[in-house]
Order: sequence, then structure tokens, then C-alpha cells
Amino acid sequence: MIIMKTDATQQEIDHVVKEVRKYGLKAAVSGGAYRTVIGLVGDESKIDFAHFATLPGVKEAMMLEAPYKLINREFNKLSETGEQRFVVKVGNVEVGGDEPVYIAGPCAVESKTQLFRIAEGVKKAGAHILRGGVFKPRSSVHSFQGLGADGMEEAREALGWLREAGKKFEMTTVTEIMGETQVDLVAEYVDILQIGARNMYNQNLMSKVARKGKPVLYKRHFGAGIEEFLSFAEYLAAEGNKNIILCERGIIPIGKGKSYTRYTFDLGSIPAIQKETFLPIMADPSHATGRRDLIYTMSCASIAAGACGLMIEVHYNPAEAMVDGQQMITPDELKDTIDACNRIHKVLGPRQN
Ligand code: PEP
Ligand code: MN
Repeated sequence: MIIMKTDATQQEIDHVVKEVRKYGLKAAVSGGAYRTVIGLVGDESKIDFAHFATLPGVKEAMMLEAPYKLINREFNKLSETGEQRFVVKVGNVEVGGDEPVYIAGPCAVESKTQLFRIAEGVKKAGAHILRGGVFKPRSSVHSFQGLGADGMEEAREALGWLREAGKKFEMTTVTEIMGETQVDLVAEYVDILQIGARNMYNQNLMSKVARKGKPVLYKRHFGAGIEEFLSFAEYLAAEGNKNIILCERGIIPIGKGKSYTRYTFDLGSIPAIQKETFLPIMADPSHATGRRDLIYTMSCASIAAGACGLMIEVHYNPAEAMVDGQQMITPDELKDTIDACNRIHKVLGPRQN
């Protein structure tokens, strides 16, 4: 929709109408008592609204529809029966189905022994999907970047352990892809391809990952608004891959002084996102809080908020972990957490949409 200034001339209005037609859309001009409003008829996403906002006589130019259509509930009728949940099936796991799904494992894969010991622990605790970073996004170039950073052979070896551990303990697997050059390699080994918070805006990476056709775990950037998050998720869907699992992992805290959590866990985004899209949304209390003493509480809160599952970092001895030890819990603690979450889920019942 384009709102003209009160003193816009007929010539300016005509000019805007002409510009709208250039994009292949129709312009519905309605003159009000004070100003003229021009409605756009057709696919609004083709329009460069920033350009229209600068035209002479224009007060405001804005998109009325959400900038994501492929993953938008409103534009997609999933079934005739009113079933509005989109379930991402991976192996025998249903993400977004009737039961919560738990992803657990170390922040980073450090050795075969470490990974297998943790995998056994998280499986016993009730996890369905094994995680473990082979390529790690880190704030400092001097800290451990994951075994994958050591070279192709090292990356292949670590990814092989992940696949082997997944097979041995009957769990599907997920790991993060940080760059385009890693896509083919990682897709050879793991079931779910993760795009981390820092790459939420990386269109080229997203397209390449989506084209693999495997489910994608897509995390919200810590500075992204909800509309932005969903608009970018549309890049994955645009490649014909709707097996997208969204993940809320906290946003930048506000205000001065200590915030006491690593990020601000935006739990309201979970039901809000569910109203907008049919895609399943999970929560990651580990990165969101950065504190192992808050994982139990915030896991329960996430499930109560309607998350279809959780991603939790686990280590048999968190103090030993090379990355994110402060937010890791033990397999026993994971079991308590999963049990509590399942009890909450039972009381609340499966999500309605
Ligand atoms: C992770 O899950 O390993 C990770 C680095 O998380 P995020 O991208 O949310 O920071
Ligand atoms: Mn981590």
C-alpha cells in the first residue's frame, strides 16, 4: 500500500500509478477526504517499497502481507481436515509431531571417546537426536574452532564418528555447517544440517544447504526480529525444501550492567512464530541462558510455551569440555529435564497448530 502526502498533486499520484504498473501490478487509487491511498493488486513481494517511499508526493510505502509466503500459515492449507502442523520426518523421528523431540550432545566433538560416551548417556536419558559441532563458530580466533578446522581429513574423521555414534545408539544426527565449502561433505555424513545463528543471514549458504534436500535446523540470529527470521527462512523453502526446523536460541540482552544470562531467551517468539508459520519450532536453552543451573527450568518453560522440542548441550564432565562447559549438563541431569518436560507436555497435550 502507498499512502500519499495530503498535498500530493495529481501528477505525483499518476507518476506513482505508472511506476506500480511497471512492476506488473495494478494500482487501486482511492481518494479520501485528506489524502489518496494507492492499493497494490498483485504480488507485492515484487515491489521495492524503499524506492516508492522516495517518490515525490509519497508519505509512506509499505507491504501489507508478510514477506514470507511459502512458509506462511495463511497461504498454505496443509490438509482438508484442519490439521495445520507440518511434521519434519527424519529417520524414525517426527519433529513437530505429537511428542517433544530432544536433541542433545556436546557443544563440540572433541574425540571419538568423548562423543561415544556422551552419545550413550544422552540416548539413555531419552534424547532422539545426537548433536556435536565439528566446525565451531567462536568469538576468538585463538580458541578451539572444532576438529573440522584442522583440515579435511580431520573433519571427515569427526563426521564419521558422529555417523557411527548415531548408528550405534540409534539416534539421528545433526551438526552445524559454517561455510559453503562444507555443505557436500557434511551432508554425506549427517541427517540434519544445522545453520547456526551467525549464518541466519547467509543466503548463499542457505540455498546450498537447502538444495541438499535434507532437513535443516535453522537458528534465529541473536539480533534478528521474528519477521526477519521468518523472511530469511523463506530462502530455504524457496529451494523447494520445506523440511525446516526453526530454533529459538536467545537474542542480545538489553540495558547496562550484568544481564545474568548469555542471551535473552525470547520464549514469546515460540507461540508467536507458530501463529505465523506451520513449520515446527524448537528451543535451545543452552545457548539462550549460557547457564547450566537454568537449563531445567527454561527447558520446562520452553515446552510449556509450545516448543516442539529442545536442543541441549551435554557432557559427562562439563568442567572438562573445551567449549561451552558453563552451559552443559550431565546425562543424569538431562534425564531429569526430559522427564519433567514430558510430564508438562502430557498435561498440556499436543500443540493445536
Ligand atoms: C550451536 O548450536 O552449536 C551454536 C553455536 O549455536 P548458535 O548458532 O545458536 O550460537
Ligand atoms: Mn555451544
